[in-house]
Amino acid sequence: TETIRLALAGNPNAGKTTMFNAITGARQHVGNYPGITVEKKEGQASVNGTRFQVIDLPGTYSLTAYTQEEIVARNVLVDERPDVVVSVLNASAIERNLYLAVQILEMGIPVVLALNMMDEARRHGMTIDSARLSELLGLPVLETVARTGEGVETLLRRTAEFSRQRGGRWEQLVISYGPDLDHALGEMTALIEAEGFLAERYPARWLALKYLEGDEEIVANGRAAGELSARLEAMAADVADHCQKTLKTYPEAIIADYRYGFITSLLKQGVLTRSTDHQRID
Ligand code: GDP
Ligand code: MG
Repeated sequence: TETIRLALAGNPNAGKTTMFNAITGARQHVGNYPGITVEKKEGQASVNGTRFQVIDLPGTYSLTAYTQEEIVARNVLVDERPDVVVSVLNASAIERNLYLAVQILEMGIPVVLALNMMDEARRHGMTIDSARLSELLGLPVLETVARTGEGVETLLRRTAEFSRQRGGRWEQLVISYGPDLDHALGEMTALIEAEGFLAERYPARWLALKYLEGDEEIVANGRAAGELSARLEAMAADVADHCQKTLKTYPEAIIADYRYGFITSLLKQGVLTRSTDHQRID
């Protein structure tokens, strides 16, 4: 039978472990990543004859290299290349939770969104049009309440369908980072593509973005991989200089602003409505 390798990603407290338990039941194994204290949880599930090999990624807010958890999460994605990622969101904080999901989409790996804690979102008077969000992003969006198991089986069934449809194909979400960054990003991406620089590991535009963000782990990998790194570092330094002189800010800050801008405009296109009624207290 077919086995789908699925990774669960999400912010701390989005309900990832609860979802992992609802999916895998007792069929799980907990260990550590070699040499570090970050927990590695893996498990199995089976739905309608489809087997799932599930990995619970460490909870993170981002995919930068600021914490061990973030480094582990992104390395699992690029090295183990799961067939599909289920991005578990706390739906009652959808805007903030989409920040990580967007970064995974920029990597290009197939993503399904699980709008978890829908009970909380409803209680807060939020209405989320998941069909609209699905249409705008071009991926399945499912509503779940991991604590009760609501929506979990449907999530798995749709995830299996989507994974088959995509057939392992990566397709990067492209966000504009504005006039100060887009030009350099395009040039750097073209250079990376022309040389196939680190192509077996990182998508070109994602790698360029990491140079602009000054991501130390990625830049170190780049230096070990070849001479193009020095040129990319110099280009990134020019952009950083320009941002400092003209805008008194850093590329990382601009990148974060544009990502949030992308999310805000996404939610405004008929995805999220908040009731102005008084909150129901139960
Ligand atoms: P993780 O940090 O992402 O692994 O989050 P956990 O699975 O540990 O969940 C954090 C808290 O949220 C726990 O108290 C869960 O019982 C609770 N929780 C998980 N899913 C849901 C849900 O869909 N609705 C509600 N109301 N609570 C949930
Ligand atoms: Mg957890």
